[in-house]
Amino acid sequence: MSKWKYTKGLHDLGNGCWGYLVPDGSWGWSNAGIIADGEANLLVDTLFDLACTKDMLDDMKANVPGADNIGILVNTHADGDHTFGNQLVKGARIIGTEGTVADFDRFDPKMLDEVNRNPAKFGKAGEFMAECFKPFDFSGITLTPPTETFKDKMTIMVGDKRVELIEVGPAHSLGDALIYVPEDKVLYTGDILFSAGTPIAWYGPVVRWINVCNMVLDMDVEVIVAGHGPISTKDDVRKMRDYLMDVTEMARPLYEQGVDFLDAAYKIDLGDYKDWTDAERVIVTIQTLYDDFEAADERPVHIPIPYFEMMKNMRDHMGKPRVHDEWCTAHDH
Ligand SMILES: [Zn+2]
Repeated sequence: MSKWKYTKGLHDLGNGCWGYLVPDGSWGWSNAGIIADGEANLLVDTLFDLACTKDMLDDMKANVPGADNIGILVNTHADGDHTFGNQLVKGARIIGTEGTVADFDRFDPKMLDEVNRNPAKFGKAGEFMAECFKPFDFSGITLTPPTETFKDKMTIMVGDKRVELIEVGPAHSLGDALIYVPEDKVLYTGDILFSAGTPIAWYGPVVRWINVCNMVLDMDVEVIVAGHGPISTKDDVRKMRDYLMDVTEMARPLYEQGVDFLDAAYKIDLGDYKDWTDAERVIVTIQTLYDDFEAADERPVHIPIPYFEMMKNMRDHMGKPRVHDEWCTAHDH
């Protein structure tokens, strides 16, 4: 049992490291954090809308010395649930990988705002997205990408505390990065770790993500702030790695038999994994795996299929029989 409860808000991990958790960890309900030493600080990610991010910054101001002035913001990756609040951290250096900057406009807040206002216009994808994202308010968001990028590794001093930024993408997204505080054995993973929920491989290669998990298991780390879910440990990394390995093993023979990826997602028996939150994400991960299998190690960076198609596919996959409507019929053999 973790000594930190899975409750909304700031959780003191000790020595100036905090995690900020937002249950239940499903679509859009992401975590962030702050690392502080003296008056210096580094914010790990922002949240999915301005109101959520403002709440978080207020909580930090009230509890973390010096947090009324955020010096550095690092985005672990580009997804909106980790970046849409960036504009509220005025005057901070904003740092991310080059992949994060390149991936930044994949999620357009104006489009999400329109979907929330008029889901019917976007068909099943709109229906699913509105179910997931209705609690959020995407109005007034201006995409605010990192202005400083790094490759491979970057070391930052936060006061006297050494913080390492480690590029590990593409894996979950195009530009994933880990944020590591060696002296405190604390790691912020962004969406490299979904704890107690189903991971989703927008980009892959999935094998690269599995290797990142193995790298984390070899690191000197005791406490992990996941991108989604409770404060975690290496046990949670192991569980999620095993999911990615098992899904890979189940998808490979179906790929070899020429089964199309949508059908493969229905044929796979997820066993206990089907009880994980957001099990429908398997459909996106399998589509990414199919591209991995196609090109083996030499594949260029995977280009995700259009977002609305993915959302529609996942809507169809949520414990219901696949609906053979126009899109599916057009793509079936
Ligand atoms: Zn996320």
